[in-house]
Amino acid sequence: MSSRPALAPFAAHEKDSRGRIYKEAPPAYRGEFQRDRDRIVHSTGFRRLVYKTQVFVNHEGDHYRTRLTHSLEVAQIARTIAGVLGLNESLVEAISLAHDLGHTPFGHAGQDALNTRMREYGGFEHNLQSLRVVDHLEAKYADFPGLNLTFETREGILKHCSARNARALGEIGERFLQRRQAGLEAQIANVADAIAYNNHDVDDGLRAGLLSIEKLREQPLFDTQFVEVRRRHPDIEDRRLIYEIIRGMINRVVTDLIDTTRANLDALNPASIEDVRSHNTTIVKFSEPVYEEHTALKGFLMTNLYKHDKVREMTDKARLMIETLFDHYMSEPKNMPQEFFSLATQGDASDQARVVADYVAGMTDRYAIAEFERLG
Ligand code: MG
Repeated sequence: MSSRPALAPFAAHEKDSRGRIYKEAPPAYRGEFQRDRDRIVHSTGFRRLVYKTQVFVNHEGDHYRTRLTHSLEVAQIARTIAGVLGLNESLVEAISLAHDLGHTPFGHAGQDALNTRMREYGGFEHNLQSLRVVDHLEAKYADFPGLNLTFETREGILKHCSARNARALGEIGERFLQRRQAGLEAQIANVADAIAYNNHDVDDGLRAGLLSIEKLREQPLFDTQFVEVRRRHPDIEDRRLIYEIIRGMINRVVTDLIDTTRANLDALNPASIEDVRSHNTTIVKFSEPVYEEHTALKGFLMTNLYKHDKVREMTDKARLMIETLFDHYMSEPKNMPQEFFSLATQGDASDQARVVADYVAGMTDRYAIAEFERLG
């Protein structure tokens, strides 16, 4: 017998879904959110995540996270939290698996480079691009563009959005103009993303030799677990020590998030997902002390890992490659595949730039490197 509670009244219920843009017959033996999840897993963008960087470039080592393994870790953390709180696990999984579909090659360095090149043409933002991938760029169905996902999955994918973009997006952008919230499943996927990368980047950073256990002990979240694991296992070797610490850190923040969110839900007692959306702030939260520790670790990783000289060397190269590719396809659109070429020649400079950005953003790390070398 399952110990999972029934779907809570404040969860996303399929019968109350705001639906898909293009009407479709209901699935025969799956739920609507399960169908979203399956469409995401079958998408081209999802398969490419295996060759896209999180922090380290894909070919630097076989043990580092890629966007695919990151997305799977987000999904499993988010599902655990959702299940305990009586929320919709299929929806939270769909959002988690899709949340990074819009990432360029080479992580944030790629997005910054593309954003710089797109400045005059409306900019480039990976989160918005994830929505663009599922709404427009996946070409798999005869009857509609994109994957035609439910409103709730799309709402979760679009985590943040400028007012200007929100106005252009219509219904899905409304909450950013009205200062409303997304459903709880979306809120959970968002926090699970941060939990996943904070923890796996500690692991990857240590493996790469860019972080040290000694330095990490300055972080209370890390040090508490370090002391605890050493107390239980005084002679533990470093490799296992690190895994034990990371397991302990994930457990601590996830437990805190569940307890704090449950207390918030008990106090607010929302009757439906609409109540959740109307609330003036997010309901899925850490307690104040854990939030501080979590944020401190995030800041630590920014300074000591993401801005590490070794990582910067890689990001400088990445920026150059993305800028060169973008400039090349702007002047020689015929060097893109036929479907991109014909789209690029239909509109004005701004339309062409968007097509080029879509093409470059869709590349994997290794494909971008190969194209850069081929065109160079
Ligand atoms: Mg992510």
